[in-house]
Amino acid sequence: MIWNPEAETMPVEERKELQLERLKQQVKYVYEKQPAYRAKMDKVGIKPSDIKSLDDLRKLPFLTKADMRDNYPYGLFTVPLKETVRVHSSSGTTGKPTAVGYTREDIDVWAEVMARALACGGATPESVIQNAYGYGMFTGGLGIHCGAEKMGCTVLPASSGQTKRQLIYLQDFGTTMITCTPSYCLHLGEAGAEEGVDFKSLPLKYGVLGAEPWSEVMREKIEQSVNIIATDIYGLSEIIGPGVANECLEQKGMHIFDDHFLPEVIDPETGEPLPPGQEGELIITTLTKVCFPAIRFRTRDITSLLDGPCPCGRTHIRMSRITGRTDDMLIIRGVNVFPSQIESVLLEVEGVEPHYLIYLRREGALDDMEIHVEVSEKVFSDEVRKLEKLEKKIQEEIQGVLGLSARIKLVEPRSIERSMGKAKRVIDERKI
Ligand code: ADP
Ligand code: ZN
Repeated sequence: MIWNPEAETMPVEERKELQLERLKQQVKYVYEKQPAYRAKMDKVGIKPSDIKSLDDLRKLPFLTKADMRDNYPYGLFTVPLKETVRVHSSSGTTGKPTAVGYTREDIDVWAEVMARALACGGATPESVIQNAYGYGMFTGGLGIHCGAEKMGCTVLPASSGQTKRQLIYLQDFGTTMITCTPSYCLHLGEAGAEEGVDFKSLPLKYGVLGAEPWSEVMREKIEQSVNIIATDIYGLSEIIGPGVANECLEQKGMHIFDDHFLPEVIDPETGEPLPPGQEGELIITTLTKVCFPAIRFRTRDITSLLDGPCPCGRTHIRMSRITGRTDDMLIIRGVNVFPSQIESVLLEVEGVEPHYLIYLRREGALDDMEIHVEVSEKVFSDEVRKLEKLEKKIQEEIQGVLGLSARIKLVEPRSIERSMGKAKRVIDERKI
């Protein structure tokens, strides 16, 4: 089903008019209420009244992660906390999270686009949705949740992890749709097979999977392993959370809900807009956000826009799978991590040298992280017991700061290859 046919099948020309009208309003609102962005506009000498066509968008400055950090935590909010009904966060580059806020209207828009997304992936009000995205400060859990409730589905707020329990819910509670990261879905399939779960006999039919990069090969594996039709969902907390875009059952690119989020793809080096079909960095401008509107936010995600009609009838423009990032952010078990975060944890530990190598592998369906860390001569000649203690300490620090478990291997001084140029810190052997 199409959740909101009027909005989702609107003729493209009509939507362009709507986008322009909303863009003008949003830019004016931001200029008046978000001093940090106003300063950027003033710097390049552009006023809200200069926005007369959608093409004028390119005159506006970019909003970046650095702007978020500079205004941490609430500096980009345009309303007082009294009017902010919720705050979420995503992990940041320096170990400090970024904060994003929502008014009641923002939560309503989020529920609306999430309902559209779930419908794209096969949900109807009759669906029983087992939501295995993490609930908490991350936007995944609550974002999916509010969209599913808005549609009138039955939601199982299972949250992430606890695989044995997830399998029990899947078998006992009549789950028809699973929502989680693709790697976790694959893991559920493997764990289920070990437990003798017969997925073919279950009512489970659809999966709305995202929050991390995956591939067509992985989609096939997942679809076979848990017997579902799997669609790709995209979103990011800076824009709203999950529900910025979702594939329809045609599985040919994700429809961007572009009456709320105006996309562009640019050349990340020059900042110049690229035509549909060409790969570059995705830029999103929110059109209806209140608490934290974002004009030309640089997502750092690499994709391309796909023009042309879709057999499903939706007229929302589509984007291809995310193929990478312009920065070095890693997504490990759905958690965003920058190598620099790991580095800063390591370097606070005594006896550790500033040489390390992060190995990422996929063990079964789950990401596995092993970090090789060089230690000083003195430490390395210590007793095994002491070395083990140090490994454990580093492991705990990483877990504490990043919320991720990692295996630590202390290695001999000077055993990690030195680089002549940019140091190679990550060996990503995950095949996705
Ligand atoms: P989330 O909690 O959904 O991961 P964050 O704001 O913490 O939200 O992270 C957003 C980032 O996650 C995106 O910028 C993108 O790099 C990645 N991401 C989200 N959805 C997808 C997807 N479907 N495919 C690839 N990467 C994705
Ligand atoms: Zn479609």
